Amino acid sequence: MPDAVETHLKRELMHAVWDMLLDDDFIKACDDGLEILCYDKILRDVFPWIYLYGADYPERVLLATVRNMGGCPCPRCFIKKLQIAETGMKRDMQRRQNIRKVDHWWLAQIEKARTGIFNRGLGVNSAFVEALLKDNSWVPTRNAFAKWQIMFVPDVLHEVELGVVKALFIHIVRLLYAHGDSAVSELDARFRQIPTFGRATIRKFLRNVSEMKQFAARDYEDIIQCALPPLEGLYPQFNKLLLDVCFDLATFHGMAKLRLHTNKAVADFRVVTTDMCASIRKFARDTQKIKTFETPRERDRRSKRAQAAKQRTPANAAANATSGSTAAPQPPLTAPAATGSISARREKVFNVETPKFHSLAYYPDSVKEHGSLDSHTTQNSEGAHRKPKLMYGKTNKRNHVPQIAAHDRRQRLLRRMRARREEELVQAAKKAAGAAENSEGAEDVRKAARAHRTVTSTILREALQPNEVTPRAAPDHHHRISGEAIPLPHDGERSTRMAPPPENSSCYK
Ligand SMILES: [Zn+2]
Repeated sequence: MPDAVETHLKRELMHAVWDMLLDDDFIKACDDGLEILCYDKILRDVFPWIYLYGADYPERVLLATVRNMGGCPCPRCFIKKLQIAETGMKRDMQRRQNIRKVDHWWLAQIEKARTGIFNRGLGVNSAFVEALLKDNSWVPTRNAFAKWQIMFVPDVLHEVELGVVKALFIHIVRLLYAHGDSAVSELDARFRQIPTFGRATIRKFLRNVSEMKQFAARDYEDIIQCALPPLEGLYPQFNKLLLDVCFDLATFHGMAKLRLHTNKAVADFRVVTTDMCASIRKFARDTQKIKTFETPRERDRRSKRAQAAKQRTPANAAANATSGSTAAPQPPLTAPAATGSISARREKVFNVETPKFHSLAYYPDSVKEHGSLDSHTTQNSEGAHRKPKLMYGKTNKRNHVPQIAAHDRRQRLLRRMRARREEELVQAAKKAAGAAENSEGAEDVRKAARAHRTVTSTILREALQPNEVTPRAAPDHHHRISGEAIPLPHDGERSTRMAPPPENSSCYK
C-alpha cells in the first residue's frame, strides 16, 4: 500500500472514532446535562466538556486535519513554512491573526476532493486533490471536530524542552566540534562539575552531555538552566552570542513554567518572548557562516537507521525468510561508521523553520486564554511512559511485548494479593474484637488490638517510607537546599564529626 494511502486511512480512522465519541447524545449531554446518580446518592446534572487538547505536533496536525510539515504547517494559522524564520517580529504577529476556522470554503474544498477520490477513483495525492488542498496544507478528511469548539494548547515539554532547547543545544555541540574536539571535552567536564540542586530539580550530569544519550525532557531542562557557566569562553568568537541565546531561552523557559501569572508577569512574558525569538534568529543568522557537521552520535544513529531500512527491503526480507531461524545474526554496526573521520559526517545547519519554534510566540496569549502553561502540559501524561520503559529493561530486548505484559500481570496479581491479605487481617481483627466483647476475654482483646495495630502501622510505614535513601551529608556542609532530612550524628560522635565553626564567621558571633 502506498504511504500516502496508509496515512490517509489512519487519519480517516482517527476521525471516525472521534465522530462516534462526539455523537448526538454526547452533544445533547453537553448542552442539557446528564443526570448521574453519584456515590453519595445525590442525583446531579453533569455537563461533560472537552475544553483543551494538549498534544505533540504530529497528534495535533492529525486532529486539526493539517498536513504534517506541509507548506502551512501550523494547525492554528495559515503561516507559510518559509515565514517561520521571522517568528517574534511584528509582521509575524500580524500573520498569526489569519487563523484557521471552520468555514464554508474549507468544507466545500474537502467535499470536492473526497468526491474526486471516492467517486472518480483519483489518488489521495493526485493532481486534482493537490490543486484543491495543497496551498493551505489541508487533507481530504472530514474533521470530527468541525462541529465542536476545541482549542489546542501549547505544550512546554515537546515544544520547548524537547523542541527548541534540544535543537539549540545540539547545534551548539556541532559548533564546538567545528571549533575543536577539546572544546567538547571541556564542555562535558564542566557540566560534570555542576552540583545537584534541590530534590530532583537539578540532577547530577553523570554522562557526557555532548552525547545526549537517553536524555529525557528533564535533562534538557537541566541543561538550559545550567548552560551559562559551562559555555563561557569555550568559543571566543561566538561567546556573547551563545551566552545571550542560552540566557534568553532559559528566561523564557522559566516564565513558561510559572504556576501563577499576574498581568505584570504576562506583560514581562511578552517582552521575554520577543527577546528570545530575536536571540534565536540572530544565532541562526550569525552561525550559518560556520560549516557544521553531524555530531558522532547523530552520524551513528543515521547509519543504524539506514542499515535497518536496508534490511527491511523486500529482497533482504525474502532472504531472511528462506534462511530460516538458523541464519547467522546480523553483524553489529560497522566500525568505520563509528570511528570515521569528520568528512563522513553530513553537513547540518540550524533550522528555525519548525512549527515548534513558531508555536513559542503563542505562549503569552495562551496564558491569558487558558491559564498557566503548567496546568495543561503533557508532562504528567508522558510520565506514564516510565513504567513500560522500566519493564523493558527487565526483558531480553527481543520479544519484549509479551514479557512486559507478563510483568504487568504479575504486578497486578501481587497488588491484589496484598490488598486481599490486608483485608483479611482487618476482618480477623474485627472478628476477634467482636468475640472478645462477647466472651469478655482479655487475651482476645489484646490479640485484636495487636492485629489492628500491625495493619495500620504497616500501611503508615509504607506510605511514609522515602523512595530513596538520603545520602550522608559531609561534615562541612552547613546547609542544604532540599526536602531531604539531614542525618544527625549521634551524641557521642558530635565532637568528631561536626566541623568546628569558622573563627571569623559572622554567623557565630
Ligand atoms: Zn500559527
